[in-house]
Amino acid sequence: MIDPKPTASHFIDGAYAEDDSGTPIPVIYAATGEEIARVHAATPALADRAIAAAKRAQPEWAAMSGTERGRILRRAADMIRERNRELSELETLDTGKPLQETLVADATSGADALEYFGGLAGALTGEHIQLPGGDFVYTRREALGVCVGIGAWNYPTQIACWKAAPALACGNTMVFKPSETTPLCALKVAEILKEAGLPDGVFNVVNGAGEVGAALVGDDRVAKVSLTGSVPTGRKVYQAAAAGMKHVTMELGGKSPMIVFEDADIENAISGAILGNFYSSGQICSNGTRVFVHTDIKEAFLSRLAERIGTAVMGDPLDEATNFGPMVSEGQMNIAMNYIAKGVEEGARLVAGGKRADRGGWYLEPTVFADVTDDMTIAREEIFGPVMCVLDFTDEDEVMARANATEYGLAAGVFTRDLARAHRVAAGFEAGTCYINTYNDAPVEAPFGGVKASGVGRENSKEAINHYSEVKSVYVRMGDVEAPF
Ligand code: NDP
Repeated sequence: MIDPKPTASHFIDGAYAEDDSGTPIPVIYAATGEEIARVHAATPALADRAIAAAKRAQPEWAAMSGTERGRILRRAADMIRERNRELSELETLDTGKPLQETLVADATSGADALEYFGGLAGALTGEHIQLPGGDFVYTRREALGVCVGIGAWNYPTQIACWKAAPALACGNTMVFKPSETTPLCALKVAEILKEAGLPDGVFNVVNGAGEVGAALVGDDRVAKVSLTGSVPTGRKVYQAAAAGMKHVTMELGGKSPMIVFEDADIENAISGAILGNFYSSGQICSNGTRVFVHTDIKEAFLSRLAERIGTAVMGDPLDEATNFGPMVSEGQMNIAMNYIAKGVEEGARLVAGGKRADRGGWYLEPTVFADVTDDMTIAREEIFGPVMCVLDFTDEDEVMARANATEYGLAAGVFTRDLARAHRVAAGFEAGTCYINTYNDAPVEAPFGGVKASGVGRENSKEAINHYSEVKSVYVRMGDVEAPF
């Protein structure tokens, strides 16, 4: 078993760095409530050193060929895959998510991003635009400079890699701040990138709470900020970045709809609803937490769903048989429990779960509410826990209007066997990431992100390149220059 204690609290300019005078941050294992490691928040001097290192390293990194940059990223991807078990154990200790999940969804997904963007790095080009008279314009795709990445606590390895991989592929450097709840995994990513040959200063990690993130965002040397977090934090960070006219990517929260029509394959729809509500104990931004089920199949859906929830294995996350783990922290568990109490108070029908599990750590039972109506708090606000709301509907137009009646727009899903309806519904969703007869897949090849309050920009895919680079147009005149006088 891996020892979760990091060599030091930060990784700056190619080496671990420490300053004990920073505020201590205990790392609590969610399955037991015990402290398993401790880091210190970055002092202003350390944050400054990280940005200075990134600023110094950037021109040289950008001057390397894309193929060379890509080779380092791909080497890091291979090393992550070789060390998947160790990294997955660390992810489990950092977040409480079951090893059964982390072995397949975290470090591996980070490796996918490093491999994909590593492969793309050598293929990044500008274009040539022919104009009359032989004149032409060519465009140069240029790095932005120093990028700041700020992560949430639910996917600490994946988030660090999803931000670092496209940023570095384009020739930027990065200072990454993990969530204070999960400070361990990004340090390992930095260590592996260094071992893979990344020049010092290109990827730096500083730990700390929101104020460390805010200091990074406000720094004049920073060209871009990419945040994964909640909508309220997104608003603050977007505003602070706007003051310096910085580029942003905002991957924020959601209250996504999943619509199950009467002709759907019920087992598949239930699988989608389980994946979209209970994977990672419901702590996933794109979750389909408003499950609209056609009244014709509602009772069949609910009884089979309850049956399948009964087979969930809640237990020690390090036991690979466990497929449902604790919530990340006591605070997050209490937030979800308050929402459950609100659901009961406002008249929703509890059909599964609803209680804290009778064991140590921050375990909350997989919970399903039926007869949920659009005005209930649990149907409107992001819970970020294992709480599914099932709402009734009968008509497509009606359900589409209700599905879109939210400030959020991260994801949406539809289960139906009617091909035309599936595509019509997908086109009608006000969401950035939509699913037909599946839910929550996030392959690196496809753009991922939200519309409305759920975000700005896209992660993954070729789209991410546009958010980590700038295009410069160079006009070339082949003849004389005509002037009015
Ligand atoms: P928060 O918004 O609380 O925090 C996100 C990150 O921002 C943390 O590292 C936090 O630091 C930091 N932060 C807080 N305030 C500031 C500030 N003023 N300036 C700069 N940085 C700041 O989100 P959570 O960590 O609680 O994560 C859960 C949220 O993330 C959910 O709403 C979820 O929907 C969303 N999310 C979105 C995803 C997406 O891709 N769309 C994916 C995963 C989660 P600290 O917490 O350490 O104080």
